[in-house]
Amino acid sequence: MNVAENLKQVQATIKDACERSGRNTEDVTVIAVTKYVSTDRAQEAVDNGIFHLAENRKEGLLEKQEFIHDDRVTWHLIGTLQTRKVKDVMGKIDYFHALDRLKLANELNKRIKEGTLNCFVEINISGEESKHGITEDQLDSFIDALASYEHLRVVGLMTMAPNTGDRDVIRHVFHRLRILRDRIQDRKIHYAPCTELSMGMSHDYEIAVEEGATFVRIGTSLVGNE
Ligand SMILES: *Cc1c(COP(=O)(O)O)cnc(C)c1O
Repeated sequence: MNVAENLKQVQATIKDACERSGRNTEDVTVIAVTKYVSTDRAQEAVDNGIFHLAENRKEGLLEKQEFIHDDRVTWHLIGTLQTRKVKDVMGKIDYFHALDRLKLANELNKRIKEGTLNCFVEINISGEESKHGITEDQLDSFIDALASYEHLRVVGLMTMAPNTGDRDVIRHVFHRLRILRDRIQDRKIHYAPCTELSMGMSHDYEIAVEEGATFVRIGTSLVGNE
């Protein structure tokens, strides 16, 4: 399927989910995850008006950026980053979705020379060992500790639901992230406005939108996986 067809489907699904949950579609931003696909395919997404692109690894990000020069594109890094690779992405990402360690926060902050980097704190709600992210219990102290990093701005929280067919389990995870987001937002911390929710992938973005996602990260269902 071409990206245009897929996009129509994704937009229709989001519209329905928004209607069911009383939300505006403008409040949901679709990010095309291009990690499985070629640069040409990523360009096809841009040509269809998708201006948020994401990669989960630094190498993939740089590869896509080498070919796609378009000021309209907002670049997202959605996977974890080794501290020694931080310097390679400086100035190249608009949003970082996987902040989960102070060591990484420290390195990012040290390397950013001016302005702020929009970050999502990644939370491991389901507690699966294979997943990245801090636990719910660590969230408040983690946010507090970020106060000393003047170049980092916590725009929201991010999570990945467990890979399961049980939609109730998935919904619970997204619902929980929203509660945590609201809690941090209510603290009105100047460096952590925490208004956004990055959640939902190809198989679960519909549920994520119903539960309040403001950024959905879609690869397979939008640009494909080969
Ligand atoms: C790959 C990836 C996605 C997109 O996955 P699909 O199932 O292909 O939509 C979303 N978020 C993260 C963090 C990813 O690594």
